[in-house]
Amino acid sequence: MTAITLGSLLYEGKAKRVFATDQADLVAVEYKDDATAFNALKKAQLAGKGELNCQISARLFELLERDGIPTHYLGMPAANWMHVRPVRIVPVEVVIRNTAFGSLCKQMPIEPGTPLDPPLLDLYYKDDAFGDPLLTDARLERLGLLSAEQRQELERLALAVNTSLRRFFAAVQLQLVDFKIELGFTASGELVVADEISPDTCRLWDLQVADAQDRILDKDRFRQDLGGVVEAYGEVLKRVQGACPQPRSGK
Ligand code: C5P
Repeated sequence: MTAITLGSLLYEGKAKRVFATDQADLVAVEYKDDATAFNALKKAQLAGKGELNCQISARLFELLERDGIPTHYLGMPAANWMHVRPVRIVPVEVVIRNTAFGSLCKQMPIEPGTPLDPPLLDLYYKDDAFGDPLLTDARLERLGLLSAEQRQELERLALAVNTSLRRFFAAVQLQLVDFKIELGFTASGELVVADEISPDTCRLWDLQVADAQDRILDKDRFRQDLGGVVEAYGEVLKRVQGACPQPRSGK
């Protein structure tokens, strides 16, 4: 790490710990090796996963920045540590689907693998106690989490992230099936992409592999007990590194 001194633990989630630092405009995020699925009903320790997700996330945030999309990312001071701007996370998970898979096909009569054009954008209320339920417009309004303008901006940013990531992943022979992002407000009120973008939060299929299981390079390997989780994440990093060899170090 650089000269920045860690302060108290602000928040511990399923995959990361967030620490205050001696700088008011910077928090430090530690990526953990903990893997969870199905609202933490399934848990494991996967050595090296934290580092891989941090390395992948850092590069993807930099790629988004290059495309003019604001993120919380500041730099990567160590292998599994990220410096980010402090944000107030909006408790809404934005999921964009380019190809039907996962929960969509369990809830709707849509065949897995069906292309979705335009992409499907869904909002979920981020609260494990309620099982992250799908939000309707009326429920979102009732909760009063976002103004109409803020919601519009949230969806605009999420769609821009999709366009950017899809193009980028396609160039390294990865199909971006779907993904989840979280956004937050900075101290100055700017809405930025926050949390992480990694194989824990994206479905990625290897376009060079035809087999429906072998092509999976994301958390579905863990969810479905397919094995080779860390190896798959390593393959994603290898490809992402091609486009962004060395992310910024810490601030
Ligand atoms: O489970 P579902 O099919 O709705 O997930 C859609 C996408 O969002 C997947 O890429 C999944 O990994 C991601 N997701 C997530 N965190 C959640 C729910 C979904 O990263 N809490």
